[in-house]
Amino acid sequence: MKKLNKLLAILLLAAIFVSSAASPVHAAQRVETASPIQQFFSSVFRNLGKSRQKASKDTELAIVLDAGHGGSDYGASANKLYEKALTLKIARYCKAELEKYNGVKVYLTRSDDTYIGLDQRIKDATGVGADAFISIHINSDASKTAYGAEVYYPNSNYKPQVSEEGRKLAGAIQKNLTSLGLYDRGIKTLNSASKTTYPDGSQTDYYAVIRGAKQSGYPGVIVEHAFISNLSDAQTYLSTDSALKKLGIADAKGIAACYGLKKKDEDLGELHKTNITKLSGKSSSRVRVEWEQVKGATGYEIYRSPLENGKYKRVGMVEKSTSTSYTDKKVECGNIYYYKVRPYKMAGDKKDTAGFSNAQKVKLLKTPAISVKAQDARIKISWQNVKGADKYEIYRSTLKKGNYQKIATVEETASFTDVNRKPGKTYYYKVRAVCNGIRSYTYSSYSKIKWQ
Ligand SMILES: [Zn+2]
Repeated sequence: MKKLNKLLAILLLAAIFVSSAASPVHAAQRVETASPIQQFFSSVFRNLGKSRQKASKDTELAIVLDAGHGGSDYGASANKLYEKALTLKIARYCKAELEKYNGVKVYLTRSDDTYIGLDQRIKDATGVGADAFISIHINSDASKTAYGAEVYYPNSNYKPQVSEEGRKLAGAIQKNLTSLGLYDRGIKTLNSASKTTYPDGSQTDYYAVIRGAKQSGYPGVIVEHAFISNLSDAQTYLSTDSALKKLGIADAKGIAACYGLKKKDEDLGELHKTNITKLSGKSSSRVRVEWEQVKGATGYEIYRSPLENGKYKRVGMVEKSTSTSYTDKKVECGNIYYYKVRPYKMAGDKKDTAGFSNAQKVKLLKTPAISVKAQDARIKISWQNVKGADKYEIYRSTLKKGNYQKIATVEETASFTDVNRKPGKTYYYKVRAVCNGIRSYTYSSYSKIKWQ
């Protein structure tokens, strides 16, 4: 008797230690019904097993994916398809998708075409400390007319908490499956047809894996993805790997939604593209690019190419999220350039980038070469047409290094006559070419200063 008390004390301490180390979220999800002492001990043992399995990651959710049938058990077959092969593919696709999330460890009850009994599947799941057991199946019906998806979850007998968690899981998976277009047959429970009972005398679940998982303290669900016996379901949802992949991804999304899992790269996934808002030549050898600020960006990369669909080279970087402009000084007048901008984000040492903005074009104008001639009381400023220019601005000053005023803007002509000349005074002139940029004007450099 004394020995037993000592053992009880040790177990109690172990239970306190284990439960304090478990993550609060998952601990809450794993709450068992107010239990007889027997159940308390089985829970302690289960948790001890679990902490041994997950010595370093005891907060990870353990999801067991069970590809139905296998080996000598083919499951249903119709329309040249075998259930055991389809379930294995869906399970693999689901695992690959689910592993993109943080805080989850994914197990398969089988990863090849082998036969495993139903009890063994639950034993294996319990052995790895399963938090949920998702059994993957394909439906079949002799009538061939039945179609759509349905998910079975544990009835509310014996461990209502397991039933409740299973109902949420089933609902989340069903929601994602039906969003693929599968007909919604609903989520269901099914009681055993015989008089078998749980330890509390309540009627058991019909399906062995749902029953076994509940007895081990975690929810088991059976996902009947589509009807192999229905031609339309088979052709649309079961005949190609890409269709099966969609089913696996839908299952994974449902599981992730149910347990609030976050994708590993979720922060980076939300880094959006930007748009170039302004692009123009600021002189014959300078281009200014402006773009929209992107939430979450650490900085931006600026790319340039002489061809719209050519090879873009990175020409600059802005290492500040709020800086949304860049001046490129390594360009030559007369040329056409295309620009793209993409935001990036640093996650530790790792740099992740969003997609590129659309390409925008800028044409750099050549500098006009001017001549200035006096004609009596007038001064004529003339130049050669600059290719691509829409207009020209004429500036004048009374001092060579003085303050130049814009005295005229002319279009479709290559000269201007200044009639406002005071006798005996020297005037200094310079001209620049202008054309439209993206929401801004592109300017050539100013011409050399000439005077009369
Ligand atoms: Zn099946």
